[in-house]
Amino acid sequence: MKRPNIKCPYCGSRAILRPASALGKTSPCYQGKEFYVCARYPRCDSYVAAHERSRLPMGTLANAPLRRKRHDAHLAFDRLWKDGYMTIDEAYRWLQVQLGIPKTEAHIAMFSEYRCEQVIRLCSAFTAAQAA
Ligand SMILES: [Zn+2]
Repeated sequence: MKRPNIKCPYCGSRAILRPASALGKTSPCYQGKEFYVCARYPRCDSYVAAHERSRLPMGTLANAPLRRKRHDAHLAFDRLWKDGYMTIDEAYRWLQVQLGIPKTEAHIAMFSEYRCEQVIRLCSAFTAAQAA
């Protein structure tokens, strides 16, 4: 399979597929995981996880603040299905409708900081309304 030509959105350098250990991620949950990492890493601290099977990037490369935002957005979103309010498929459909975006774009790894904040707000409002 041809490797996609992926660029770092911060500095324009090429992104290189590297094992998690290259990022200092050595815990067992990162075993076999790969990341697209900016060629200028660690000077440019930007990367995104790769899908294990296809080895394609899960989204766009993210710097530390954006990675934190995406992590927080995922925690808020995952509560919708992990806490049993809906199935995971329903949760993704809900997200698409709330954000008015197609299925192909409804992946948190593709989201900007602004969109992550939207997700956190929407999911928190949803779970709060359920609990009330
Ligand atoms: Zn970069």
